[in-house]
Amino acid sequence: MDEAIQRPASEAGIDAAFLDRFNFLDKSGALDALEKLRRENRELDTLITDAACLFGMKGVSEMLDFVISRLLDRFVPSRLFFLIESPRGDSLSQYSYRNLKPAEPEFPEERYAPLRQFFLSSPYSVSYDDLEARLGRGALGEGVAGLEPSLLFPMLGIDGLYGVAILCRKIVGGDYSDTERMYADRIVRFLSIGIQNSLHRDGAMIDAKTGLFNHAYLMRRLEEEIARTARHRSSIGLIMLDVDHFKRFNDSYGHLAGDAVLCALAKTLRKAVRSEDVPARFGGEEFCAIVVHCDERSLMEVAERVRRSIEAMQVEFGSRILSVTASLGCCLVEPSGRDTAPLCIERADRALYSSKAGGRNRTTLYRPGLLDRAALLRAR
Ligand code: GH3
Ligand code: MG
Ligand code: MG
Repeated sequence: MDEAIQRPASEAGIDAAFLDRFNFLDKSGALDALEKLRRENRELDTLITDAACLFGMKGVSEMLDFVISRLLDRFVPSRLFFLIESPRGDSLSQYSYRNLKPAEPEFPEERYAPLRQFFLSSPYSVSYDDLEARLGRGALGEGVAGLEPSLLFPMLGIDGLYGVAILCRKIVGGDYSDTERMYADRIVRFLSIGIQNSLHRDGAMIDAKTGLFNHAYLMRRLEEEIARTARHRSSIGLIMLDVDHFKRFNDSYGHLAGDAVLCALAKTLRKAVRSEDVPARFGGEEFCAIVVHCDERSLMEVAERVRRSIEAMQVEFGSRILSVTASLGCCLVEPSGRDTAPLCIERADRALYSSKAGGRNRTTLYRPGLLDRAALLRAR
């Protein structure tokens, strides 16, 4: 028999059986369940992609912006708070958003301690109603209740709890659904890990006292910048500075006054160089800066600007106004590709020593002379 005539009949048979089964599955709710699983699967897929994006970001603000944009794709909270402890746990940063825009901090910070206590014993997301049921009505005070919090999430890292995220009432659409709560819960978990990674990364490259780059980062960047001089055929400079008679300063005013001066000096140094330069604390009362794209003249100009800015500093400490001077040494790294970071440090250090020997509060440029003796050019 002709195949073309047979096919519709057999297909009609399959269709009828298929329809029977389809109706059965539909009535039993299996199709709905399947659709729900598909939706959850898509949601998890999105979540994994979101997590991968988050883990590729460097800064806390960038991560928060990203998470907020993801949450806003699903719902609009009237307010949103991220309360994040500093790595040493001695201060709290508050990131607040109101009607989708960054807002002034509104969360009463003294209420963070009871929240923290709660999440230490129960590190899971919780609705505000459940929280009040467990802590007692009004336990967090009117100030918190007035913000209309709905859901609270602990922010957990390797060292345990270090923050809390709070979603307030939704602007439209009533209560948060289970799916919305689950997404928020998971994205906040990933955000928590991302932020901790970022804080640890900062901790590994930033000097805790001054907020400048630390010694290890400086040496790494210096090697990188030296390699770049060879590729781009442009010179860089290294400035090294040491506070004058700082031991005597500490002895006269105390180490806390000394610390205040070092912090002020760090700010001054950061301001005196360009944003693409690399200011760092070398150690103790010694600082460095890598100055990119410069020649001898511009390097000396930057170094002198740094020296004069330090000389002009007036640091308030208690009832006193304190000031210091610093001696500077610098060296130019030309694009030969033969210099190394330790060699550049040694040259800048020799120039610095010459500034000290010459009377302090001055700048010296390292100049390789005959038999590699430093012929040093002084300013001031
Ligand atoms: P010079 O002009 O030759 O550099 O004299 P100096 O006294 O600065 O040099 P010296 O190396 O003898 O002393 C450095 C001092 O810097 C000693 C140390 O107590 C102080 N110092 C180093 N790090 C810190 C710090 O983090 N805080 C404070 N307050 N002092 C520091
Ligand atoms: Mg020193
Ligand atoms: Mg010194």
